[in-house]
Amino acid sequence: MSKLVAFAAIQGGYKVVSTAEGQFRNAMESFNADSKIEFPNTGYYLPVIYSLTGMKVEKLEDLAKPLAFARGLLPPHVKGKNHLPYLGPLLDAGMAAIFGYEILEALRILRQPDFYMPGEEPDLENGKLWLGPADDVILRKRGVEFVDGSAPGFAAIVGACPDPETAKMIVEDYQKKNLYIFCAANHNGTSVVEQLVEAGVQVGWNTRIVPFGPDISSAVFALGFANRAAMAFGGVQPGDYKKILHYNKDRVFAFVNAFGDIGTEWGTAAAGCVNWGFPTLADTDIPEILPTGICTYEHVVANVSHEEICQRSVEVRGLKVQVTEIDIPCSFGPAFEGERVRGADLYCQMGGGKTQAVELVKKAEMSEIEDGKVTVVGKDVGDLKEGETLPLGIYVQVAGREMQTDFEPILERQIHHLINYIQGVMHIGQRDIAWIRVGKAGVEKGFTIKDIGVVLHAKFHQDFGKILDKVQVTLYTDKKDVDELTARARGEYKTRDERVENMTDEDVEIYYSCTLCQSFAPNHVCSVSPERTGLCGAYNWMDCKASFEINPTGPNQPIEKGECIDPVMGQWKGVNDFVFKASRGAVTHYNFYSMVVDPMTTCGCCEAIAAMLPSCNGVMTVNRDYTGETPCGMKFTTLAGVMGGGASSPGFVGHSKFNVTQKKFITGDGGLLRMVWMPKSLKEELKDRLIKRGEELGVPGLYDMIADETVGITEEEILPFLQEKGHPALTMDSIIK
Ligand code: SF4
Ligand code: ZN
Repeated sequence: MSKLVAFAAIQGGYKVVSTAEGQFRNAMESFNADSKIEFPNTGYYLPVIYSLTGMKVEKLEDLAKPLAFARGLLPPHVKGKNHLPYLGPLLDAGMAAIFGYEILEALRILRQPDFYMPGEEPDLENGKLWLGPADDVILRKRGVEFVDGSAPGFAAIVGACPDPETAKMIVEDYQKKNLYIFCAANHNGTSVVEQLVEAGVQVGWNTRIVPFGPDISSAVFALGFANRAAMAFGGVQPGDYKKILHYNKDRVFAFVNAFGDIGTEWGTAAAGCVNWGFPTLADTDIPEILPTGICTYEHVVANVSHEEICQRSVEVRGLKVQVTEIDIPCSFGPAFEGERVRGADLYCQMGGGKTQAVELVKKAEMSEIEDGKVTVVGKDVGDLKEGETLPLGIYVQVAGREMQTDFEPILERQIHHLINYIQGVMHIGQRDIAWIRVGKAGVEKGFTIKDIGVVLHAKFHQDFGKILDKVQVTLYTDKKDVDELTARARGEYKTRDERVENMTDEDVEIYYSCTLCQSFAPNHVCSVSPERTGLCGAYNWMDCKASFEINPTGPNQPIEKGECIDPVMGQWKGVNDFVFKASRGAVTHYNFYSMVVDPMTTCGCCEAIAAMLPSCNGVMTVNRDYTGETPCGMKFTTLAGVMGGGASSPGFVGHSKFNVTQKKFITGDGGLLRMVWMPKSLKEELKDRLIKRGEELGVPGLYDMIADETVGITEEEILPFLQEKGHPALTMDSIIK
């Protein structure tokens, strides 16, 4: 913060308090000392003074006390040799000025009782534009909106824009965000609200554009309104200034836009507003007050262009954008989540082995992306004939001051159920094995790929507004772009997976639950430990931990693992108790490290399913992307259909691809050395890690001993291969317990 702004604000404080003192003396000469002082039809005396100090001003002579108080707040003048920080004295000077302004307005009403137009609407025909302080009827009607959230707060606008069109553009932007627009003060002989009237905009409380008054002092009505609301609806006691100011900072999203030259009088008002946590954004080159502390973020930001000021104000104040409407042609909601798009209803599809489909959420810088921008690069549904397919890359960029890279997987995992919420559209899988099926009914309603972006933008704001401020979605349907995004996404997935690489289950006392999939598989509870990632592959222990931080009542709850019942099979009392409750009694216990004995439950999202192969004394696993036959006699889809309902099915278990090479993978059944068959593509995908694990387990050639579909797709076909290679599973204890 610069010395200059401190100087201006402190000078301003002196000026305002002195002016108020002068006018008070004059009034005491021309009016009786017991003349009534009030804002008409209000029950809170002079509300800023009353709320912050408890002083009740009822008569003219009562003004002496708050005036003396304001004088006492004024800090010593800034001298050349003083050093930073100036924030404390600056805030006091600003507060003194706010008291001064409220007294000046009270004296004006004493002298000119009809200066302000009573009620909600101006009377433009009779030249009565200014409404002055809101009466209690308006407060009751409107103030409650600040409390119930239907109005997040207000933009206090002082001064005038270069022209009426600019004023209209800015104010309409604020209206769209459901904010009230409180207008005060003029600049070059006009004001924003006069410019709005000129541009044909309706002003008044009904359109949320409130013309308070022509002078900067009338800006105090905005603060008085906020403080009255805090007393009336927030239960804050008069005089409890700390609570009042905190209440406003935390609950009322308000800020000041200053249009025009900011002299000492505006400067001190801006400093005053900082006490409430309301920052000022100006269109001129004034000295900034950037360090944060009192306001949520910066205090005074200068030189903001008119195009940007709305978005910047909202960012600086930390206001969360409310997207209430999801503008797509199809119905939308959890009711449609479980709806399937079967063969006969299918119009077109993306992914699912027919084409590549991939999903990636990445954090971006605030300046890098544009909120709400949704772009489809390539063909859309309208360009397709029935039965055709498209590749699809869903690339979501999110930015926010609270956003962390750790949150990316959590947001990404939402894509699954959010797309499923669209009526007539079905989503399966995640990451680079996503699959979207669009039904004829969806296409008839007008569904396009763009709607996916509209949904993700709106729902991310609604559900994760706490951590993000901007969401931009790009949907690629050209093969080249999708392949590029897939390659990049795989790199990201790898980094995410490896975040738990060096952690062990013994390292932690807390595991996490995941019940995100209960809408499809009602009894299903994933328990996620460092060495057992979620079976969808999208959630590991770190992700669940981050998800719990964002949403403490959400689907990822910490589980105190408690007493260890079986260290080999991986069973803990705390987990059993949790699972029993979370499955509503359907599942009493399960093992983390066994697929043979009481394995964990499986839902339809699993990346891969392992199955026992008794004749080979081993196990196989098959991933979703492999569509062929397997030695257990079932294709992936059949297995998923049988196992995916949320039950524990001994002999089978759903797991993530990464889990295959995690150290605890089915250790209760002999571990990775049991693995006798995998699809070639999965083997190749995991190659480096499989080789490394084989070496660690003392079987360096394990990778080459695992059969794939080129060797055979029945137990009989692969057994000779295993014997020839000397696969370790053949000499292990019997897998049948
Ligand atoms: Fe959560 Fe498990 Fe579903 Fe993944 S599969 S989202 S970890 S419940
Ligand atoms: Zn699932």
